[in-house]
Amino acid sequence: MGLLGAMMDRVRTPAASCCLGAVLVLDFATLPDASTVGEFKNSLFESGRRRCCGIWPGDYFVTRTDDGFELSQEWSGSYDMIHTRYSRYESGFWSPTREHDNVGMKIYAASTPYSAEESEAIRILLADRVAAEWDREIGARIRDSEWSRSRMLPLGYLHNAAAMLVLSGFVCSFLWVGDLWRSETRRDRRRRGLCASCGYPMDGLPEPVCPECGERVGERFA
Ligand SMILES: [Zn+2]
Repeated sequence: MGLLGAMMDRVRTPAASCCLGAVLVLDFATLPDASTVGEFKNSLFESGRRRCCGIWPGDYFVTRTDDGFELSQEWSGSYDMIHTRYSRYESGFWSPTREHDNVGMKIYAASTPYSAEESEAIRILLADRVAAEWDREIGARIRDSEWSRSRMLPLGYLHNAAAMLVLSGFVCSFLWVGDLWRSETRRDRRRRGLCASCGYPMDGLPEPVCPECGERVGERFA
């Protein structure tokens, strides 16, 4: 409590309000677009344009062959397609605290829908193609049907904790307004010949001590 009190006394100054406020504004200004607040800021200054997060255009035409299916990036007479999508994005309130990583796959059958077994065969084919042509890890995830992943961002939590600390310091620092108000009141009461502490009229008292609250009056009244 003593330490907290000492910290409060140090922070309750106009200079501290300015410094901590400046830190908060700077932090807000440099916040990445990925978080809720960052996106709000982005919408204020860039009319709602969202940051794009790595869309991966891996689309193939699907053709039936005698022994299964074939995938090709050139049109091969079939309008059946398999679309893949990869996105990576961060989320959080102030600073981003989670990273998400999604792989998506969708089969469009122009005429006859594929059975579950056929869809599975196409998925395995796609996994091999993606691993060979684009990214081994993403290929492996399509093979294992691991569509979404997310991980914690420890630095984001650290950043948020620091921001909370600065914010509470900023709020506390405004106690100087109260201090100013109080000292103004005391000065005004003293000028009018009243007790600075409680406002009791001090004219004609034998002792320089307030009979109401016991405050000892300074040399002006002695
Ligand atoms: Zn008094």
